[in-house]
Amino acid sequence: MYSRTQNENGSYNTRCLDCFMTIASCVACEKDLDFLESRHICPEKALAALLEIEKATTLAERN
Ligand SMILES: [Zn+2]
Repeated sequence: MYSRTQNENGSYNTRCLDCFMTIASCVACEKDLDFLESRHICPEKALAALLEIEKATTLAERN
């Protein structure tokens, strides 16, 4: 999930709603936003994925 805002000069900013990191600011066209957002490696999501793996591993060890 990303939050896009537009500047007074018409350029765009985009922010990740998971980690609240500003991914890009003053981007001229919306097409570039798609590209930049797709390239964002979210630390929050990476952490969640890591915890899932850990949970699965712990469960596997117990059984
Ligand atoms: Zn993020």
